[in-house]
Parts: sequence; structure tokens; C-alpha cells
Amino acid sequence: MAPSPLILWGARLIDGRGAVQDRATVVITGSTITDVGPAQRDRPPGAIDLTGRTMLPGLVDAHVHLSSHMERSPDFGPREVLNGEPPRPRELGYFILAKAARALLDAGITTVRDVGSYDDEALALREANRLGLVGGPRVLSCGRIVSATAPGGRIFGTMYREADGPDEMRKAVREQIRRGADFIKVMATGARSVVDEDPEPAQLTQPELHAVVDEAHRMGLRVAAHAEGLGGTRLAVEEGVDTIEHGLSLHREPRLLDRMAERGIVLVPTLTTFHDLAERFTTDFAPKLVEQAKRQLEDAYRTLTAAARAGVILAMGHDSGPPGDDAVELVRMVEGGLSPQAAITAGTSGAARALGLDDAGAVTPGKRADLLVVDGNPLDSIGILRERSRIWLVIKDGQPSGGRALDARGLQPG
Ligand SMILES: [Zn+2]
Repeated sequence: MAPSPLILWGARLIDGRGAVQDRATVVITGSTITDVGPAQRDRPPGAIDLTGRTMLPGLVDAHVHLSSHMERSPDFGPREVLNGEPPRPRELGYFILAKAARALLDAGITTVRDVGSYDDEALALREANRLGLVGGPRVLSCGRIVSATAPGGRIFGTMYREADGPDEMRKAVREQIRRGADFIKVMATGARSVVDEDPEPAQLTQPELHAVVDEAHRMGLRVAAHAEGLGGTRLAVEEGVDTIEHGLSLHREPRLLDRMAERGIVLVPTLTTFHDLAERFTTDFAPKLVEQAKRQLEDAYRTLTAAARAGVILAMGHDSGPPGDDAVELVRMVEGGLSPQAAITAGTSGAARALGLDDAGAVTPGKRADLLVVDGNPLDSIGILRERSRIWLVIKDGQPSGGRALDARGLQPG
């Protein structure tokens, strides 16, 4: 017997591509959106009444680090081990990952792109999720981050695969494909979170970055480039990577933004991570890095508006914690000058573009049925998307998977 369709009726619809309907009906059959149109005057039999609520695509986060380490998420993981208590088993980490996955889904994040995790944790979570062992968003993983031999390698350990020279770069990419990577992440510059790295110059030579992009693209994988300073950012854009992560220096060379707009290279501005280093965790980082982050924070906002003006596709990337607070990035985008509509586009179809997914990020027929229903109107107040109490229903792959409606058994079709 074919499954009976799920009919969502009467909500305002933000479709993720910039269009809004006042009262819409969305029909889901199996795991696919099969019909979208204006709401009929009378509620169809069996439809769920969403009058007064807003429906939008499930949010997509293009820059997360799935991790059992909770440095950026005080209070989310288990409390610290006290002196005299036995050490915690390593395997506890997988339960923390499962809790993180649940928190993401409950916040309406239905897809995440992991851009680097320790000990292949993101790959383990992806598999657990595919097998239905844990609730959580769909996960795309880069495997390990391809980096030149660099000081960051000593700090980030198993998150990195260090390589030097074009041939070794190819091998490093192939290793990630072997490991099961969905895309390749490469360090085009050093990182702002490492004292001994200067994030300004390109960290790879042109032949090295060329080899990474060529190898990945030939094998059908996209490339995400960590790019802070202008030297590495320029090289990454010119070599044709698919997404620029951070990209804060781009406002200094508008020609690169024009090139990105032309070629559909997506910018993931990760504003929140600069606030983390400059304001939130100032005592956890070396003073030099905190000072650097204050300058970078201003640069990141300048680049946000310059990129929007140039028509560059933007994507939400939280790059912080706790898991589930990802939409703070959309709040920052609005504070930085984007309209709420543009921010929502960045958190849905823009981020889906970053991931290279054409089945996510929009509420249109044929897309995967990943949806979010919230109380109120995020176009009036973007902060609604951060409030757990406002998340009424999360649908993933056509299945009600999170939100208050499930807690309260409020999902009784009429
Ligand atoms: Zn990151």
C-alpha cells in the first residue's frame, strides 16, 4: 500500500529561494515534496493545520565541526572530570556526538557539512545516521583536512592530513576518497586559531592547490577552501574551488568577489567564529589571536556586505557551538546588513549550493522533504530560528523528526 501523503496546510511559506506565500499547502509523499500551492479555503481531510505558523526548508549548515570535544560548547557535554574521579572512557565521545546530532535536528538543521573532525568522528556519525541508529541531520564529511605541513598539524592532529608537493596532494585527496569523503577540504591559508600560523599568505603553492582541485573535480568531489588572507584566497578562487570558508579578506579585492559571483563559488562567512575568538572565549585563546580576531571580525562583516552587493551566493556556516544554535549565524548576517529573507536564503538554498545538493534547501516539488515549521514569522524577527520553544515541527526525509509538536503529541491530523 502506498503511504498516505502528509499534508501541511495554512502556514506562511518561505520557500528558501526568496519567495513567500501567505498561506500555502505542502504535500509530502514518502520522502519527497510532491505538491506546493496556495492553501485551499477549507482544510483538506487529514491535513495538519499550521495557521499562524511559518514553514521553511530544513536549515543547512555548510560549516560545522562535529566533535565529541566541546570546547566551543560549554555546558553541552558532560561536566569536567574532578580530581580523584576515574578518567572517562574514550567511547563516551560517541554518545556526545549522538546528543549533538539530536540537538541539531531539534533545532531544524536537517543537513550539515562537516569540514573537519577528529578521529573520523563525523564519518562514524554519518554512518550511524544512515543506519538509523541515531536521530540527526544528514551529514556530509570531508574526511580529513588536506593541509601543507604546518604548525596547525601539531594542534589539530587527526583532523589533518598533511601533504607537500603536487603528487602528495593528489595522494592526500585520494586517501580522503578512500576514507569515504563527500568533498575535499583544503587549507589554502593558515588558521586564525594557531599562534604559529600567519593566516595572510597562501599556505600552498599554485601547483599544489591546482593538484587538489584537479584531483577532486576529476573524481566528482567538490572542494572547500579555508581561506583567510588575500594571498591564499586569491589562489583558491583562481584555481576554481567551490566554496570559500571564512574569506574575510575578500572585501579588499572586489574583482575576486565578481569572479565568485560569475562562477557560482559560494562564500561561507562564518561570522560567529570571529565573535568566538574576539569576544566569547577571550581567556581560552592566546592574546595575540584574540587581537587578530578583533581585526578579522571587522573584515568579515565588510566582506559580507561586499559579497552580497557583488551577487555572491552566501551560505550559513556556524563553525561554533553549542550544536543547535547554528541560526545565530543568520542573526549575525542580519545584524551585518542582510535582509532576513537573504539570511534565510543563505541558511537554505545558499548552503545547499555550497554542498552541491540539488535536492535540499527549497520547498518545491521534487525536493527531499526536509522542512521546518516555526511559531511566528522569521522575516519579522530572524532570532525566532534560534529559539527552541519556537521550533514547532522538524520534518526530515518526510518524517516528523523533532520540535514541540512531537513532545506535546500535537501532531494529530484533523
Ligand atoms: Zn571551521
